[in-house]
Amino acid sequence: MRLKYLGGVYPTTFKENTRRKPIVPLEPAPKQVIIPLVMCTDGGAVPVVKVGDKVTVGQVIAQPEDRGVYVHASVSGTVSDIGTYPHPWGGTGEAIVIDNDFQDTPCPNLPEPMDWSKMNREEVIRRIIEAGITSMGGGASATHLRLKRAVGKVDTLIVNAAESEPYLTSDYRLLLEKGDQILEGTQMLARFLRAKRAVLVVSGDKLNAVEFLERRIKKRDPSAVELVTLRTRYPMGMERLLVRMVTGREVPPGQTALDLNCAVFNVATVYTTRLALLKGQPVTHRTVTVSGGAVARPRNLWVPIGTPLKCLLEAAGGLREESPCMLTNGPMSGTIQETLEAPVVKNTKGLVCLSQQEHDPVTQPETVCVRCGHCVSVCPMNLNPAFVYRAVRMGEVERLKGLHLADCLDCGCCSYICPSHIPLLELVRQAKTIPTQGGEKG
Ligand code: SF4
Ligand code: SF4
Repeated sequence: MRLKYLGGVYPTTFKENTRRKPIVPLEPAPKQVIIPLVMCTDGGAVPVVKVGDKVTVGQVIAQPEDRGVYVHASVSGTVSDIGTYPHPWGGTGEAIVIDNDFQDTPCPNLPEPMDWSKMNREEVIRRIIEAGITSMGGGASATHLRLKRAVGKVDTLIVNAAESEPYLTSDYRLLLEKGDQILEGTQMLARFLRAKRAVLVVSGDKLNAVEFLERRIKKRDPSAVELVTLRTRYPMGMERLLVRMVTGREVPPGQTALDLNCAVFNVATVYTTRLALLKGQPVTHRTVTVSGGAVARPRNLWVPIGTPLKCLLEAAGGLREESPCMLTNGPMSGTIQETLEAPVVKNTKGLVCLSQQEHDPVTQPETVCVRCGHCVSVCPMNLNPAFVYRAVRMGEVERLKGLHLADCLDCGCCSYICPSHIPLLELVRQAKTIPTQGGEKG
């Protein structure tokens, strides 16, 4: 099935840089990993190790606080510090530093492999909690909390492999290299949630992956997982849009996919969940695309959590020219990194270092609005960013009422398309914080 939707943009994807690059282990391995205690947006964790302790791969080093997740050692070695370090989401945070002994000694206390079909609901949740799984597609919510909320309430499970951010191909490579495991993981989650329909969503430009998955689905059980191909454009991977495109249901303002009986999980989360359920394996590594015009040898890497971003760049041959802009998780919705001292966390799917040539077109000086309407036509939520611009710039905040800003997905399509280079996304974000919107405050 092939679906489409209104809105969105077609940025140059630059995916050719890494599309054919298989996922390879990070070489050389990092001398030190810096593992933040905040790995999800629901809460943090408190250390259960102290400086000088020896740790092994997969060993719990911090346990959840509030609604956070377990944190595990991703290399074996010695805890050398517990302190404040840069966090890739911005600012700094508490982290546990481990000096790598390069032995990769596995933790002897990991849960035993199990037959997932015989697990009850409590066992499934316990394994996911113990594995410290969070959303791995950009969002960073705790997976066990989302599953607990969704179980028995959803009729449709959507596995998101759309990956519409330019440059990133880590999900694409995962589909090609671990397709069977992802299909199995999808079936596991659908069974757990008691969903009638399990849908794997892939963008139309991932032709190799689509053909491969179609063959595998036919061979396995054609009724178990449905493959849906979407027309390639950004931001088709956002939860609300996926629900709309797959089920035809509109997610109303202030509600989530779950309110419409849908659960959405990223493909990397599904892969990790399968590993946790079958093998008791915690989240210690993930795939990361290192790309961008300034990177000497773009590639897809299998990286220990906590690896400083600068080590990823080193493994990709370093910079071939000075990069004016380095980001984690892609240029459209990612986070700018002033330095590469921050580490990889569970939702880091890419490191993009733009070249001067790639960066210049998006940093033109701002001019006046020419009322072309492009920002309105590309907004996937049918908002009017030009109205927001006028209201904010002219200080007429009363006009913000009724513009439904809470619906904004922060996708950045409006800023991207504006011929006057008006920073519309920033203005919309700013407008969301103005307390005059009668319940629409973001
Ligand atoms: S207003 Fe929000 S949802 Fe609409 S295009 Fe801009 S950033 Fe995206
Ligand atoms: S795209 Fe830019 S110039 Fe065109 S209407 Fe929107 S704000 Fe104005």
